[in-house]
Amino acid sequence: MIADQRADLTGAARLLGSARSVLLLAHNNPDADSLGSALTLGLALGRRGAEVSVSFDVPGAIPQSLSGLPGVDLVTPAERWLQAGTSGLDLLVSVDAGSAERLGRLASLFDGDVPLLVIDHHASNTYFGQHHLVDPSADATVVLVDALLSELGVPLDADLAALLYAGLATDTGGFRHGSAAAHVLAARLMAAGARPAELLQAITDSHPFGWLGLLSAVLGRAVLDPLALGGRGLVHTCVTLRDSAGLRQEEADSVIDILRTTSEAAAAAVLKQSAADEWQVSLRSRDGVRVGVAAIALGGGGHPQAAGFTWRGDYQGAIAALTQALDGPGAVSDEA
Ligand code: 5GP
Ligand code: MN
Repeated sequence: MIADQRADLTGAARLLGSARSVLLLAHNNPDADSLGSALTLGLALGRRGAEVSVSFDVPGAIPQSLSGLPGVDLVTPAERWLQAGTSGLDLLVSVDAGSAERLGRLASLFDGDVPLLVIDHHASNTYFGQHHLVDPSADATVVLVDALLSELGVPLDADLAALLYAGLATDTGGFRHGSAAAHVLAARLMAAGARPAELLQAITDSHPFGWLGLLSAVLGRAVLDPLALGGRGLVHTCVTLRDSAGLRQEEADSVIDILRTTSEAAAAAVLKQSAADEWQVSLRSRDGVRVGVAAIALGGGGHPQAAGFTWRGDYQGAIAALTQALDGPGAVSDEA
């Protein structure tokens, strides 16, 4: 396996190193791992003389919590690419997306003549490109990007280190779920100039006052189902459009990190309403429960213990479907 990954890495670095005009794509509702990976590669390739842009479909602007990251000037609106197509480009790169659907409308760029390199760490990756650097053992996609920088001979500076650190810290749940390699990389990134407290203050540790009202309503209606998952327990709640009115996506996204701390439940679900009959569902689990299996069964994806899917219908219907999927094969591992 190591030899194969190595070959992927060398091949991916060769493609990136020889491309003159590159479009890097982050997934819908980009997080720090996806946008951080795209911006790192963007800055690094730009310094090597390539023409580079970064784009993502939804939402139409950079999430405020990520808008202070280095390199955000590279971001171009999805509309530009949807209208102009891929002419003039010689490489497309998707970062941190497990499937083409995660790129929204920008996935339509993949049926042209421009090769697509997929860089990702989701085990559920569907290998939707022509070239792949996919390693589910990587803590975050930025880990693969760091390896690519070494392969390309690009030295870390404070901007690149900040971007990589942002993705690493957030995808490992503030290093709780990080491997020893993630901690070693963090030390190297700090030595290159990454400032953890300053970075995370903007990304995860700051919310408007209205967030407290959202939390009060949403946590107040949380439901604990102690019988779900063969008695391991499921806790769930919803964030309606009314709860989140006037607030950022970041406020709704933060709820899962509180819900998941419920000690009586091995799995947690937050349904975030995105339209009258549409919910984006965030799932987390521990103690051998694999919510990722349920997410895939319901048309979504992610990691074994951090996953999601989109539900069309009502809240109760979503919970019924989720409970059933969690009782299906593979959701609870034998050791649990
Ligand atoms: P989050 O709850 O933070 O939005 O997502 C957790 C994980 O699940 C991430 O790895 C994300 O890529 C994945 N995920 C979330 N929603 C979806 C979805 O609708 N489809 C797929 N394929 N993956 C998702
Ligand atoms: Mn990731």
